[in-house]
Amino acid sequence: MPNLRARLLVVDDQALIRTCLSELLTEHGYGVRVAFDGFSALAEIRKEVPDLIVSDLNMPGMSGFELLSVVRRRFPSIPVIAMSSAFARGQLPVGVAADAFYEKGVDPGLLLQIVESITHSRNPHPIDRSRLLAPIWIPTNGHDPAGEPYVMVICSECLRTFPQTLRGNSGPIEHTDCLYCHSPIQYAIVHSAVAA
Ligand SMILES: [Zn+2]
Repeated sequence: MPNLRARLLVVDDQALIRTCLSELLTEHGYGVRVAFDGFSALAEIRKEVPDLIVSDLNMPGMSGFELLSVVRRRFPSIPVIAMSSAFARGQLPVGVAADAFYEKGVDPGLLLQIVESITHSRNPHPIDRSRLLAPIWIPTNGHDPAGEPYVMVICSECLRTFPQTLRGNSGPIEHTDCLYCHSPIQYAIVHSAVAA
């Protein structure tokens, strides 16, 4: 397929959304692959690195929060559009590693515009990625034996994991030091209860 405008990867757990977006984008000359959650998206990226990723945020398995944080770390050159119907435009949670946000359900023409503007701006990229320190997004694990909510934090330096108890009134991004190598870690919690 020589005349593709760009190769996109669309990630959404809802088959209807995947089909609609993939038809719309294909009609407009884009090459489209689809994935149903973060894990299957990473598998697709391993097969072939896309020019742009369009990803839902609330998905079972590996959510978009986690996926985008992994993509930003491992494939920092791939631009990403986050989409959701759970957040109004401009109210994307702090720390989501995306270049643009599309509010699901509003005019799909708007998504086309965003895709077009990102795929056309070859250089230099409008966002200085080095200044975007993407936190690691992690799902909650439930409660520890003492009844406290906790998460398992993964250190990106030494790759060890350790449990971290969650305090009540915490900010959107948490800071801690690795239990093993003491490197500073930023993380944010994926609240799976957020309505999709
Ligand atoms: Zn460490």
